[in-house]
Amino acid sequence: MDRDEACTIYRLLVLQYPRKSGDENFILFENPFQVLVLTILSAQTTDRTVNQIRTSLFLKYPAEKDLARARPEDVEALIRSSGFFRTKARNIIAAAQKIVADFGGEVPKTMEELLMLPGVGRKTANIVLHHAFGINAGIAVDTHVARVSRRIGLSDATTPGKIEQDLTAIFSASVWGDINYLMIRHGREVCTARRPRCDVCVIRQLCRYYLERQEGRAEQDR
Ligand code: SF4
Repeated sequence: MDRDEACTIYRLLVLQYPRKSGDENFILFENPFQVLVLTILSAQTTDRTVNQIRTSLFLKYPAEKDLARARPEDVEALIRSSGFFRTKARNIIAAAQKIVADFGGEVPKTMEELLMLPGVGRKTANIVLHHAFGINAGIAVDTHVARVSRRIGLSDATTPGKIEQDLTAIFSASVWGDINYLMIRHGREVCTARRPRCDVCVIRQLCRYYLERQEGRAEQDR
């Protein structure tokens, strides 16, 4: 796939999935601290579940310094429904402590620094940089982004890191932050894991999966 085709896919997805404010299917937040904490908590669960934890968690721990002093068992009780709650509680408390100790109490703004925080990998760091600071340092690759990218033919890789490399090579940096949102919506609503709804897909004429299946059918008919 070339850059022009990738650009067309981006434009079609933007038209298809306009941003909805207050969408409970995506993390809702008010500041960088909240994005960071909620994104760590969102691993292996849904953004909707994390949004339900949000109010009680930040009522009790409104800022980094509050969470840094928290007792793990108190945090665990608040985030239990997100799964893996002991590890997550440990990570968000340790991340808050490091932010207080090493970054003056403010969530850092670089990939390198964010990766020093417990529980933060490239996906989380990319989401924090984009949503909290408007910085496009890369593309956050989750299960939807990975599946949709491979089906379309934007990447053949199997690891998030390599898929991110392939995507950042083909899309211009100005749209990196949007790609995550667009592909998640497309992956949830149309290009679903079990049965992609290719018949209603706006990018099917550019999709490798769709085109190969069409070719296969045409050959069978011959
Ligand atoms: S054509 Fe099908 S496989 Fe390709 S992106 Fe659309 S839904 Fe997914």
